[in-house]
Amino acid sequence: MGNNYFKRDDRDVYFALKEHLKIDKLLTYAKFRDFSMEDFNMVIDLAKRVARDEIAPTFQDTDRNDAARFENGKVYAPKCFHHLWNIFKESGLFALTQGQEFGGQGLPLVVAEAATEFFMSANFAFGTYSGMGPGQGAMIENFGSQKQKELFCARLYDGTWGGAMALTEPDVGSDAHLVAARAVKNGEYYSITGSKVFITSGDHDLTENIIHLVLARIDGAPGGAKGVSLFAVPKIWVNEDGSLGEDNDVACIALEHKMGLHGSATCQMSYGDNGACRGHLIGEPGMGLAYMFQMVNVARMAVGLECAAFAANIYANALEYAKQRVQGTRYGERTGARVRIIEHAEVRRHLMMLKSYSEGMRALVYKGYLCEDIAHASDDEKEKQLANDTLALFTPIIKGFTSERIWELCSMGIQIFGGYGYT
Ligand SMILES: Cc1cc2nc3c(=O)[nH]c(=O)nc-3n(C[C@H](O)[C@H](O)[C@H](O)COP(=O)(O)OP(=O)(O)OC[C@H]3O[C@@H](n4cnc5c(N)ncnc54)[C@H](O)[C@@H]3O)c2cc1C
Repeated sequence: MGNNYFKRDDRDVYFALKEHLKIDKLLTYAKFRDFSMEDFNMVIDLAKRVARDEIAPTFQDTDRNDAARFENGKVYAPKCFHHLWNIFKESGLFALTQGQEFGGQGLPLVVAEAATEFFMSANFAFGTYSGMGPGQGAMIENFGSQKQKELFCARLYDGTWGGAMALTEPDVGSDAHLVAARAVKNGEYYSITGSKVFITSGDHDLTENIIHLVLARIDGAPGGAKGVSLFAVPKIWVNEDGSLGEDNDVACIALEHKMGLHGSATCQMSYGDNGACRGHLIGEPGMGLAYMFQMVNVARMAVGLECAAFAANIYANALEYAKQRVQGTRYGERTGARVRIIEHAEVRRHLMMLKSYSEGMRALVYKGYLCEDIAHASDDEKEKQLANDTLALFTPIIKGFTSERIWELCSMGIQIFGGYGYT
């Protein structure tokens, strides 16, 4: 196992939740009335322990010796992730916010995402598998038929199956309305053909099945956004009684070679190469992009959370190092005793910048999640509207501000480590 860089405590998280945002008010809404503050504490404490003791020790290895692999047409997740997967399964940590009808915990987002912040701080790569199943399940729960919900949601929420979202194609990135993947009516289902690239956890060996939500164009559909539909495409076909059927002609053809995040399997996917790939239409034809925007908004918020998690890590590690590293003398005392670098004004300035941004990012992101909770839970139309409007305003700011600022914070953190920041 590599170094454990998880050096965070939970005081800042509790401060943001309890004193800054006063999340106890959530308990007054019917949606959350069955919870107590003790329940919230338990979830966050458990998340911190799992992050520190189980996930964080895998961080270095999964980027170096135990990365995701593609061998003989099969994708293997880092070996140590199997152990983490079992812990998540046993502790019910996959679907913290999703509906209780299908086995989700139904927690407020702001609490669940505070827990997720610890997981992201520990090893972001693991979350690129564990977060995908519940994410796709939530899409099916929101937009799918009752039959589709019953077929897929529970097993996406409990970690039996994984999930993937497949928008991007070799010639279609930002222009998602131009997707070329095809769907042709085939009885109750659709035959799917096409290629997708950059598909996070498109294939791996952590689960017996993976449900892909694929954007494709039904033959004869209009061009542009209105012609794009959403399909649930299982790697292994799921029979009507819920049992697993035949291979569904969904194949990973290569892994993307990324600059970092090597523990995460980012896949080039091929659907229907042998004419035997079927998918379920989710919701209405032509609504695929509109539905996918739910996922895109979730992803934008998640980018903000990820940056807050990284910033907290950078600060915690830089602070510890600055308290230990002895170098230089106090300003104006050239012959004096050597001091810890935290005593140098410039190092302190950097540390204070890191702390301020780290806490500011967290406050901003949590506020967004709290608005989302209130928008879902409140019966008061005015309060709901205000929460929705605030969230709409905050979401792009959360993604843009945090992801631009985190570069500077990384640079500052590395600077505090001097030459050791680069080794
Ligand atoms: C690690 C990783 C994981 C990913 N996971 C997934 C996944 O799970 N599923 C999935 O479907 N996709 C995934 N993606 C793909 C990601 O969504 C795309 O990379 C993204 O949509 C951008 O598309 P592109 O890379 O083709 O860039 P392009 O769209 O080709 O853009 C190239 C550049 O041009 C700029 N640009 C494009 N259009 C405009 C415009 N109109 N005005 C101004 N500038 C413009 C862009 O901002 C960018 O800087 C992943 C990517 C990465 C790196």
